Amino acid sequence: MNIKQVAVIGSGTMGNGIAHVFAQQGFTVSLIDISNEALNRALKTISSNLDRQVAKGILDQAGKDNTLKNIIAFTSITDGCKKVDLAVEAATENEELKLKIFAELDACTKPECILASNTSSISITKIASVTKRSDKVIGMHFMNPVPVMKLVEIIRGYNTSVETNALTIELSRMLGKIPVEVNDYPGFVANRILMPMINEAVYTLFEGVAGVEEIDSVMKLGMAHPMGPLQLADFIGLDVCLSILKVMYEGFGNPKYAPCPLLVNMVTSGNLGRKSGSGFYEYEKDCKELKVAQSFRERIH
Ligand code: NAD
Repeated sequence: MNIKQVAVIGSGTMGNGIAHVFAQQGFTVSLIDISNEALNRALKTISSNLDRQVAKGILDQAGKDNTLKNIIAFTSITDGCKKVDLAVEAATENEELKLKIFAELDACTKPECILASNTSSISITKIASVTKRSDKVIGMHFMNPVPVMKLVEIIRGYNTSVETNALTIELSRMLGKIPVEVNDYPGFVANRILMPMINEAVYTLFEGVAGVEEIDSVMKLGMAHPMGPLQLADFIGLDVCLSILKVMYEGFGNPKYAPCPLLVNMVTSGNLGRKSGSGFYEYEKDCKELKVAQSFRERIH
């Protein structure tokens, strides 16, 4: 395999985890974000996640130091992507933004560079259409938290070549992941099934059927889910959930994917879940116990 240098575009929830797993396997990683603050936060998160691996005995101190050495931060795609063999885009879930990023990646990377997207729902075929190498564009959908979760959903666009597909599968295995191949339709498989469940949980809260903790408890205790759907939505990011539902709603033209108005209000008001400090629950620094958000303790939606 000729892939040695990798770029990860976007250093948020997913980008820092993707950079972490590539760097840990010895790839040189350009971690790129438009926000310096996001880059600094990502490097801190990677360092503390590596500490956790050291504490568990999965990694030694030299492994941690080498992983961090393999990551270089950039604020410009063109500067960070000149020499890379693979670019994995993990920027905000917004079609217009991703099309812009892929056009730029197509212009600034080597012609043989593979361009992958970690999108949760946006068409890989559409993303590939803004490049001159649609055979080398593929979906590489990691799960959150990336260093822990085994699955990578591999999405082949209409023109993705057999070679690109095979290489991406091999690469996922090298990272210790389990690739699963799916076709390119809105939400692919993971979110096509997960997001309607999360949306229904929000509707259940919106209609006053039960409170936040009760809804999550039913799904944890009754269905053996490790996390309730509302906590999971906070963990994913409510803005990400809303964007995915919109893509499926528009893509299938089916009202069953219409986002719950409560989810829309929460995103509009900046309550995005764990990353903003508040969603269905409140997230104080170092607070181990989950606390239902103030708004759901005192208000009926
Ligand atoms: P996030 O909001 O945590 O981070 C997105 C980052 O992209 C931000 O740091 C932002 O500054 C950066 N960004 C925006 N425009 C950019 C640009 N032009 N160039 C470089 N960086 C830019 O989002 P996230 O949750 O990490 O999601 C990223 C992608 O991963 C999305 O496509 C999302 O659907 C997908 N995804 C998310 C999850 C999840 O659980 N959150 C799981 C799987 C896939």
